[in-house]
Amino acid sequence: MEYSRRNKLDTPVQYVKGVGPKRSEVLENEGAKSVLDLLYYFPRRHLDRTTVTPIRNLQKDAVATVVGKIEAKGLRTTRRKSKYYQVIVTDDTGFLNCIWFNGIKYVEKVFCVGDLVAFHGKVDFYNGYQIVHPEYDKLGDEEKDPLHTGAVIPLYPSTSELKSVGLDSRGFRKIIKNALTFLDQMEYDCLPKTILDENKLISLGDALRYIHYSQDIESLSSATKRLKFDEHFFLQLLMALRKVGITEAQGRSLNKTGPYVKLIYDSLDFELTDAQKRVLREIRNDLAAPRVMNRLLQGDVGSGKTVVAILSAAITVENGVQVAVMAPTEILARQHYQVFKQYCDKAQITTAILVGKQRSNERKNILEGIANSKIQIVIGTHALIQENVKFKDLGFVVIDEQQRFGVMQRGMLVEKGYNPDVLIMTATPIPRSLAITYHGDMDLSIIDEMPKNRQPVVTRVIIEETLPKVYAFIKDQLNKGRQCIVVYPLIEESEKIDLKAAVEGYKTLTNEVFPSYSVELIHGRMNMEEKDSIMDRFNRNDIQVLVSTTVVEVGIDVPNATVMVVENADRFGLTQLHQLRGRIGRGTEKGYCILVQRKITSTSKRRLEIISRTNNGFEISDEDLKLRGPGEFFGIKQHGYFKWKIADLVKDGPIIRQARKSAFALVENDPQLRKQENTEVRKRFLEEYQHLLEFVNIG
Ligand code: ADP
Ligand code: MG
Repeated sequence: MEYSRRNKLDTPVQYVKGVGPKRSEVLENEGAKSVLDLLYYFPRRHLDRTTVTPIRNLQKDAVATVVGKIEAKGLRTTRRKSKYYQVIVTDDTGFLNCIWFNGIKYVEKVFCVGDLVAFHGKVDFYNGYQIVHPEYDKLGDEEKDPLHTGAVIPLYPSTSELKSVGLDSRGFRKIIKNALTFLDQMEYDCLPKTILDENKLISLGDALRYIHYSQDIESLSSATKRLKFDEHFFLQLLMALRKVGITEAQGRSLNKTGPYVKLIYDSLDFELTDAQKRVLREIRNDLAAPRVMNRLLQGDVGSGKTVVAILSAAITVENGVQVAVMAPTEILARQHYQVFKQYCDKAQITTAILVGKQRSNERKNILEGIANSKIQIVIGTHALIQENVKFKDLGFVVIDEQQRFGVMQRGMLVEKGYNPDVLIMTATPIPRSLAITYHGDMDLSIIDEMPKNRQPVVTRVIIEETLPKVYAFIKDQLNKGRQCIVVYPLIEESEKIDLKAAVEGYKTLTNEVFPSYSVELIHGRMNMEEKDSIMDRFNRNDIQVLVSTTVVEVGIDVPNATVMVVENADRFGLTQLHQLRGRIGRGTEKGYCILVQRKITSTSKRRLEIISRTNNGFEISDEDLKLRGPGEFFGIKQHGYFKWKIADLVKDGPIIRQARKSAFALVENDPQLRKQENTEVRKRFLEEYQHLLEFVNIG
């Protein structure tokens, strides 16, 4: 029944007036097969009073949109004899130069004197305001200048294929106007009225209309809110269903107490921070409850996640189950193993390490110990998920630095137990609204406080010329008994080139800069014994200067290392720099991080500015997210979750929280969406997340 109302919108796009077979072919390639698809082809931007700037009010370096008439145009030559094309634009308030150095032949043909055009780009000041290579959209006669009329004009994303059949912004405005006639009596909505009312949302029909054609900014903004809400809502619905799927599974109450936790606790030579205590309470409650724990622990580098993991593990061992701790690299696994062992020995808990390259004898013993539960805690790499690893009774899984593992690998470890509790630790703190988007099926614990004995690391950005001074400073530190780490960047395309840079740097440092100190090189291609022996010697201060590729990013915990030099720092991402910096200043001595900038671009400059301004991981990841966008930030472009059209994870915080609340309420009331049978919510959900349904349980 309900579907029949939608039927009209399922009409092939070809039958929209103005489309026809040729355009429909191109549109279909863009994913717009039906009228509804076309209506979901949202504008990339709108021109209105709030988004268009009068030329008079332009500001240098700001990104702005200007609407004006073309006053003059022509080919010009710079003083240095290179040719460029200039278009002079005017609104009533002033003149703007638009400049092209490339694609001149094309631009020459596009514009005519008198055309009304919207230009968009970064404003420069050079003999007047100018924008180099602006983005542009020609406006037709029917479109009035929004600055004066209060009109709202949608601009559409287009491709060269679309443009070749006349579908630039103007072309789109025309066919979408026609497509909107299909909406006329649309009553179809994918959300129930209660949810619309609760969240003060307009109907889907209105939203689709206003996103394309609105008379005022208010209706545009209610349309935007509604459409964003939809996207977040259905993702949160997926999260809610996954979460009940996991936590409703029969877990066990690990609520017995015994001597282990206290023995370890008493052996700590520091007081836990309040944040650590709070997080431990959260974990303890989860473990004690009969539900399965599925918790994400966020905390900046150095905030002390490991000890939280150790104490949590001790609680579970107290309850007679085994623990698996999985780390992304062998170095990190070994580091964890050492720390775990050091504390667990105090309570006589048996620990072991399982990594790729181990002698077969040793390996056999460990596998046996895991199988007969003589080994209570095993720490390892993804070697842990191999088939021959069989636990007697795995009850608790800890995964460190989780963004490096896929959902699959996580699942494979979890399946080695019978619904074990899961704790995932990450050193990439992210804003809450993002965390609930990406990890929405998990509960969140945050360590937002550093141990009190820490001094913030001093960070300086320098250029090559300053290096001699830096080296003198380092020698001074070395003479005081401290140690230094010099990092060379990893350029993923070529490990060889990286290595070469590090090897050359190492030679210069040994022979020329620090001839009377002990300098060593460590890199990813060394075998484990070599790496181990170097790390051991660095630990004992037999090595004073450690030259390294990014293998140190996760793994070195040497409190005596007080200086880090990052070569070609401009090549690193923000989060990575922050992680690197976290390797120093881990002790009570002050730490120094020196970032050597060799190539200056505007984003690298911005990154280095941010990193030298703050030590706060949340702030840094916030900025990183703005610079890179969520896909790259998480390295999960391929994830398949996120093919959003209008949602913006950085800006939609409040909408995300509303959507989450509604989605979780719906699922709480109806855990498998049984009551929603034949509803539009359910249909839409199945359409959206067909590809991820194996993760959820729908009745
Ligand atoms: P991360 O959160 O980056 O994994 P770690 O767990 O490795 O941090 O902790 C960093 C260092 O801080 C370790 O040497 C650890 O022993 C120490 N540490 C942890 N908690 C505290 C605390 N409350 N007070 C002082 N030092 C602490
Ligand atoms: Mg850690």
